[in-house]
Amino acid sequence: MVFKLFKNGDTLYDEGKEFIKRGEFGKARDYLQKSMEKDGGDDDCAAVKIALIDLSSQTTNPHMYGILIKKLEETDNEEFEFGLTQIIRDELKVECELTKRKLELIQSGGRGTSLISKGEQLQQLAMDFQSRIGERTLVIPELFNRDSTVTGNTEFYNLMAIAYETMARGVVWDNPSQAAEYEQIAAGYRQQNGQSGDDNMARIQAYSTTCKCWMCGRIATGEGIHFYKTDAEVSPALDNQSDTVRSKPEGDDHIYICLACYSAVSKRSDAISRQYYDKALQEMRAMEMRLQAEIMALQSQISMARMSR
Ligand SMILES: [Zn+2]
Repeated sequence: MVFKLFKNGDTLYDEGKEFIKRGEFGKARDYLQKSMEKDGGDDDCAAVKIALIDLSSQTTNPHMYGILIKKLEETDNEEFEFGLTQIIRDELKVECELTKRKLELIQSGGRGTSLISKGEQLQQLAMDFQSRIGERTLVIPELFNRDSTVTGNTEFYNLMAIAYETMARGVVWDNPSQAAEYEQIAAGYRQQNGQSGDDNMARIQAYSTTCKCWMCGRIATGEGIHFYKTDAEVSPALDNQSDTVRSKPEGDDHIYICLACYSAVSKRSDAISRQYYDKALQEMRAMEMRLQAEIMALQSQISMARMSR
């Protein structure tokens, strides 16, 4: 009887494995779950496979990697198959640990100086991907995203780029030229990883652009950070700049305004709008009360007329 139960569990386990091969993960999960209830399977990896299936639809959720790591620690099998892929337990465990760290770091947000230490942690992680996985292809992207181009080394370049971009965001407010330097390094890593680095270049351009404020004449570096380009009508008579530092982009209906002038103008204009809004609302309320009074007067006239009929 006991033997029959074991056999039954094994059959369920084998069927679960077949469903994985066909990519029918939902059915595979059911069979594997049932096989575990009946102690089935010859390699004690049903729980690992269920964790892999659960991860397949949530590959950006660090918690799911935590569950898989736990299941990998609980199995004695050093090697097992998942569909047509042969998986080495300890290699997958390292990949999951590093990927979990990566997702937690990237999803952690932060601003200002905290971004500097986040950038340093990303660099450390990048080096861990390089030293612990190296040229090996990552299993999870290959299994679930059909992407076999991701290796420990490509993750190194990718994370180094993200690290320097994060640090650039951390310093740009105080030091745009330092931010431009970080973006330059990030662009280098992106290019080594076969990417264009165009976004980095656009930010370098913006961070290193210097202007003279059209309004106050101050010099500011860092477009979109310390100065802005705004719509303006500039007649030819006004557009006779001889300075090396420009107050407007060439041949454009825009002028440059430093953050101080820009924010002063926007705040003043907000305050003026607010005054108009409050005044309009006050008048509407007064009108509503007048109308209400007129309606009431009419209603009482009507009921008087009805009563006197
Ligand atoms: Zn200004």
